[in-house]
Amino acid sequence: MMILTKKMIEIRNMLARVGQSSTLTLPSIVVIGSQSSGKSSVLEAIVGHEFLPKGSNMVTRRPIELTLVNTPNSVAEYGEFPDLGLGKISDFSSIQRTLTELNLAVPDSQCVSDEPIRLTISSPNIPDLSLIDLPGYIQVVGHNQPLELKQKISELCDKYIQAPNIILAISAADVDLANSTALRASRRVDPRGERTIGVVTKMDLVDATRGSSILTDKQYPLRLGYVGVVSRIPTSTGLFKSGKANLTSAITKNENTYFSAHPLEFGPDSEVSVGTTTLRKKLMQTLEQTMSASLQSTSDAIRQELEEASYEFKVQYNDRPLSAESYLAESLDAFKHSFKQFAEEFGRPQMHEILKNELDQRVLDLLAARYWNKPIHDLYVPIAEPNQLVDLPKADPDSLYWRRQLDASTSSLTKLGVGRLATNVIAGAIQSHISSLINQSTFVNHPFAREAITDAASRILNERFYSTSDQVENCIKPFKFDIDMEEREWAAGREHVQGVLKKELTACEGALKDLENMVGGRRKLREVMGFVDKAKKGDVIVEGETASGAGGFSAALLGKAREAVFLRDRADIIKMRLLAVKSKQCANMNNKYHCPEVFLDAVATKLASTAVLFLNVELLTEFYYNFPRELDLRLGRHISDEDVERFAKEDPKIRKHLEVIRRKELLELVLEKMESLRHLEGQGRDANNRN
Ligand code: GDP
Repeated sequence: MMILTKKMIEIRNMLARVGQSSTLTLPSIVVIGSQSSGKSSVLEAIVGHEFLPKGSNMVTRRPIELTLVNTPNSVAEYGEFPDLGLGKISDFSSIQRTLTELNLAVPDSQCVSDEPIRLTISSPNIPDLSLIDLPGYIQVVGHNQPLELKQKISELCDKYIQAPNIILAISAADVDLANSTALRASRRVDPRGERTIGVVTKMDLVDATRGSSILTDKQYPLRLGYVGVVSRIPTSTGLFKSGKANLTSAITKNENTYFSAHPLEFGPDSEVSVGTTTLRKKLMQTLEQTMSASLQSTSDAIRQELEEASYEFKVQYNDRPLSAESYLAESLDAFKHSFKQFAEEFGRPQMHEILKNELDQRVLDLLAARYWNKPIHDLYVPIAEPNQLVDLPKADPDSLYWRRQLDASTSSLTKLGVGRLATNVIAGAIQSHISSLINQSTFVNHPFAREAITDAASRILNERFYSTSDQVENCIKPFKFDIDMEEREWAAGREHVQGVLKKELTACEGALKDLENMVGGRRKLREVMGFVDKAKKGDVIVEGETASGAGGFSAALLGKAREAVFLRDRADIIKMRLLAVKSKQCANMNNKYHCPEVFLDAVATKLASTAVLFLNVELLTEFYYNFPRELDLRLGRHISDEDVERFAKEDPKIRKHLEVIRRKELLELVLEKMESLRHLEGQGRDANNRN
């Protein structure tokens, strides 16, 4: 007996998790009544505790879906808000506070909210019931209440009092039943009184004869009848002190005293039903019967819902199984695999190339600062015919000046903070490789994972940064005092620097071309450049160049021309130096003072090679070892189920896929339960028929 309701309530809660389905509603008891009709008192008498929001201006703003769970084998009584994750709350005044807060959180502009508050109460003293407490109908809108409140409450109630729900219509005995808002609302949707239970409260406020006649009302006869209750205990009796004893037994005791004082009107031989105990029984029976009657239709609805989910799964996802855990695990594996590949391809040669490129730039800067801005014709000038290089006037090989220039340049290069520079450049390169690995992986659509991975990489790199850069700096220290160069290194430098210079030349020429396009053509640029050249040489006197320009050219144009002149001169010098580097003179290491480009390039290579040795040990190897472990820590087995779920759902496609599967599985489970319930029901009926 009554097992069905319990099971159906379980199923109801499961279905609530399926979500977004309006068809799958199992019957519930919906409680309506006008304000102050005694609605809260009736509910609390059933539950046995005060837990509903009270207060002069407290209008319930949200439906409360109250699930009562009978726990015969436990003494504990507690409530739970499944959507809030507050755990079990055994202090009912705390439940009351939470409900009050949830109500107050609905803004005035919204009046009432459709979104139900779900509350489950478990106790050995309550029946299994599923009740929905709705905001009380209001007669007169209070002065500080929104005008539409009355209307909105009535609309909200209308939504809930539809079939197959059972309506518990609360009216007070001291108000004419004809004026009961609850009964009027119920009559509209249940004109024949098939699924309404009438509760008449405050029976103690009218005399017994009147009370008894109310309960046998003929104006709106109800198949399930009326029940009269007294759900307030007179404070003077001392029967109940809040929190001390069970409210239900105190109320029942009081009711018994009252009703047995009028045996003629309310006694066993009268036709009326009275008392909270009677009401509880009636609720249980009615719900059980309604649930039983709806078994078939609910099963059918679930089956249909399941068919739709299965169809969607087949058509859109090809019946491909997926779970949040497997999705994360596979994504992580794939990512680690791509990282492994990267690790195999990125080693010393790659680091060397990156670092050397960086140092090449520094060398170019030094050359520009120390050589190219000077009349370097003194240094070494091959004659202009590229293919017939002839040794020409050159600097005195013993000139102290050129020696100092080269020594100073070398010193600047070795002392520029190679340790920090190298570590920085390589750490940056690793980090940007990781970013591109992320972008090519499934993680690209997962901000949470993306951040976890990026963060893992930077944490390891940052941790190693200072020790690595110190190590590297230490190791290149000898080069700060003495550079020992071999023929082989010189030759390689001579070869390599030509490429560097050519690239720089191309860059200069490209920039020059851009300027041409910007000012409207080569001829135009040449013309202004001519003017700038003459002005530089003093051939034309530019008197008081103003903001508007000079020589008929605008200031902006002159600015561009000066840039162009600089680029042209830089290109000329580079061309000349390229010839010098190619010349026989520079093939000989002894001529290093004439060939600073070659020498500095070779030094840069030495620095890069040495730095890379230590970067490899201190940074790269460490990173390759720690990174996959760090990934496991952050995205592997250790992360909580909620995080896994949150992660997977970050990708909208995956979220939908997972939801379809979950929905399908849940519906399958529910259907299975429904089937076994129906089976049980059938057996019960057979047994009854046999008896
Ligand atoms: P609600 O606004 O419909 O939830 O009504 P309440 O349950 O808060 O009750 C309104 C008022 O009526 C309160 O002061 C209750 O104490 C009182 N009340 C409720 N039931 C009874 C009853 O059976 N007899 C008497 N005398 N008062 C009652």
